Amino acid sequence: MDVLSMIMALFFMLLAVWSQSQLAALQQPKSEAAPALEILYSKRVVTRGAVIAAAVHVSDGRVQSIVPMRNAPKGPKVTDYGRLAISPGLVDVHVHLNEPGREEWEGFETGTKAAATGGVTTVVDMPLNSYPTICDAATFDGKIAASKGKLHVDVAFWGGLVPQNAHNETVLDELIERGVVGLKTFMSPSGIGDFEQSFKPDLEAALKTLAKHQVPLMAHAELPSDVDLDPNADPRKYATYLATRPRKWEQDAIAQLVEIASTTEGAPIHIAHVSDADSLEMIAEAGRQGKRITSETCTHYLTFAAEEIPDGSTLHKCAPPIREAENRERLWEGIKNGTLTFVSSDHSPAPPEDKLVEEGDFLRAWGGISSLQFSLPATWTQALARGLTLADVAEIWSARPAAVVGLGAKGTISAGKDADFVVWDPEAEITVGEDWKVEHKHKLTPYHGMKMKGKIVATYLRGEKIYSSSDERGKYSHNHRAAGPYGRPLLRK
Ligand SMILES: [Zn+2]
Repeated sequence: MDVLSMIMALFFMLLAVWSQSQLAALQQPKSEAAPALEILYSKRVVTRGAVIAAAVHVSDGRVQSIVPMRNAPKGPKVTDYGRLAISPGLVDVHVHLNEPGREEWEGFETGTKAAATGGVTTVVDMPLNSYPTICDAATFDGKIAASKGKLHVDVAFWGGLVPQNAHNETVLDELIERGVVGLKTFMSPSGIGDFEQSFKPDLEAALKTLAKHQVPLMAHAELPSDVDLDPNADPRKYATYLATRPRKWEQDAIAQLVEIASTTEGAPIHIAHVSDADSLEMIAEAGRQGKRITSETCTHYLTFAAEEIPDGSTLHKCAPPIREAENRERLWEGIKNGTLTFVSSDHSPAPPEDKLVEEGDFLRAWGGISSLQFSLPATWTQALARGLTLADVAEIWSARPAAVVGLGAKGTISAGKDADFVVWDPEAEITVGEDWKVEHKHKLTPYHGMKMKGKIVATYLRGEKIYSSSDERGKYSHNHRAAGPYGRPLLRK
């Protein structure tokens, strides 16, 4: 192609994009209600695999094009963010919002507000810790009804897989057809009475139904077996708790999942919150064999270390447990080499009385770490120290999780995708709970007082600015086209 025809081709391409956007604008009713045509500019737009200076042209809630500023369509409002990074909004596939039924633990309103504050634009809610648990179509309908008018970000849902529904194809079909992203199961006791652990025959039966729909099974992978414990060990020592959930439990569960995983048209299997780095080789080998297995680890496993957890600090209790610093470094290696597919928060808050903060008894305290709001700066702070880039963080926090749960409109800044962005300053320092207000229902978190790199300046959801830090306390914009917050339930088609 000669230079002239290249210029002509480019001209027509831009014309096509421009006229498409004009057409989209014309099709909107002429009122305040028309979605804004807008250009967001930054020297650091984080696209898949690269950070570029670009104008991101947004209309109708979606990215229309990403072009050099000089090629941006003339006319729309331009917001110049200078050197602030524009990254894809985070997609957190492992969040316990606990509503309906345990609103005193978290809730749609507070949980999704915290998400917006942290640059998380999509969360996938867990089927347990709410009451009832979400194991059939009727309870799923109740969940959706309970979320109405309360979502500050987009929320998708996992259905629950328990022995009671695992063998009932009709019940699973109905639940999956409601639009859940997949089914979550526990291979160990969940701690919640109405969500029982599943065994191998349950998983094998359910995988047949999941395969029909091509949606993933997400497994809490710990397979309990007897452990030799010191009955006199101090319950205020973290090591006492760590000994109760050995690495072997994770390894045995992951071995079982690898055994039942398919290499072809079977259902994909996703391993939730991997904490044991010794399991990584097994996951990598399954990948080399072409098995349909993905995995996640969580921010807290990448941040904390067992030997540094203070006595009585039950805010650090979660399952599987946080392990040693040497283990944490190997989890980071797993992130770098792609064995671990992505990161999630496993945000699982509880009221202070259930965390037994006063007694500091690790064995009796509720397990679960509250962290949804902090994922981006917490991960970035650790990632930066280990040589990862802005594009790497976008990969593990947005692109890959969106792909694994089949949310095709989410996860990258590219033409045609939802205009979900976090605008942030990767160099600025913030201190959790001091100059960064915590929006979770309960402010208890092991991250309290931690200095982190990465200040969130604004969050956009489908082109709408839903959060802005322009005043110190943080501001929330409600969608001016709707009465309440701008998020909505995301149902898989
Ligand atoms: Zn969880």
